[in-house]
Amino acid sequence: MSTWEENVRKVVPYTPGEQPKERKYVKLNTNENPYPPSPKVSAAALSFDALRLYPDPAASDLVHAIAEYHGVSDKRVFVGVGSDDVLAMAFMTFFHSGKKILFPDITYSFYDVWADMLEIPFETIPLTGDYRIDPADYARDCGGIVFPNPNAPTGIALPIEDVRSIISKNPNVVVIVDEAYIDFGGTSALTLLDEFENLLVVRTFSKSRSMAGLRIGYAIGSEKMIAYLNDVKYSYNSYTMNRPSIIYGVESIRDDAYFKETVEKVIKTREAFAEAIRKAGYVVLPSSANFVFASHPTIPAKEIFARSREAGFLVRYFDKPRIDNFLRISIGTDEEMRAYADFLCEI
Ligand code: PMP
Repeated sequence: MSTWEENVRKVVPYTPGEQPKERKYVKLNTNENPYPPSPKVSAAALSFDALRLYPDPAASDLVHAIAEYHGVSDKRVFVGVGSDDVLAMAFMTFFHSGKKILFPDITYSFYDVWADMLEIPFETIPLTGDYRIDPADYARDCGGIVFPNPNAPTGIALPIEDVRSIISKNPNVVVIVDEAYIDFGGTSALTLLDEFENLLVVRTFSKSRSMAGLRIGYAIGSEKMIAYLNDVKYSYNSYTMNRPSIIYGVESIRDDAYFKETVEKVIKTREAFAEAIRKAGYVVLPSSANFVFASHPTIPAKEIFARSREAGFLVRYFDKPRIDNFLRISIGTDEEMRAYADFLCEI
């Protein structure tokens, strides 16, 4: 009998939120932006004929536009296929000591998947009773640290002084701050970049820039860190950024007015939605993201999830210890959120 299967790398993959095709839902389950990308994106000139050519492996135009936006040199910017790609590359590049890396027990559920896949040992640090990151828990010997700010799926932001405290107590390892949701609240760690050479800030175009379908993520760090990341990238796949992503990404980041307008709308809707369901008795954690994490004191989240689905509202439920009585609800348009708030209040 053939034994080829014995030598297969066996992993437990990440489970992304559903992208249903069987019926039309009000889709509040994967933290997408309800508004379209900047109109400048649709006006961008994309040459069909140019698609026969490989893209610029350095994605220089996109790197430059991002660098310009943040007021840093191009050498401090790394781009990838969504922040998932950037984070995976960063894990591969910086978490190589053989020591355990640290991240919260309740957090983005891709971190443990990458760690397992890349054979990086890790330890999860419990959030406090009120679902917060306590910086004191991260003042210890480790192989590196990663956490989202605001955290997911709680939506709770970590004050910048606490972020500084975590980095300053870990000068000998890389600290990755995953700022997928930072545009919706919280204070960015970008302001700490000049203080710490071991800090990597990771961002995405998927949420606040309405471009989840295009797959653009980036990291900003010291020139040295970005050079190390590029070495790993060029050892893996030179052409991660395709031509449309480069062209559309540049247009998106240059349209700051549209970006600010849509982000403001999402924040306003989030606050109105949270208030409406709090009035009906739901507990909503204070969110700085484009979603809220909510539970009801008597109706189990699993039941609300199932009934929401039946009624045509798709939200995210995690069947995991400590959070199995919560629902993560992405913020849609005002109309969608009013309809879902009415539904939640009714049940
Ligand atoms: N980080 C966090 C905390 C996320 O929730 C997500 C979205 N699933 C990502 C990173 C990855 O987003 P993307 O790959 O679309 O940039």
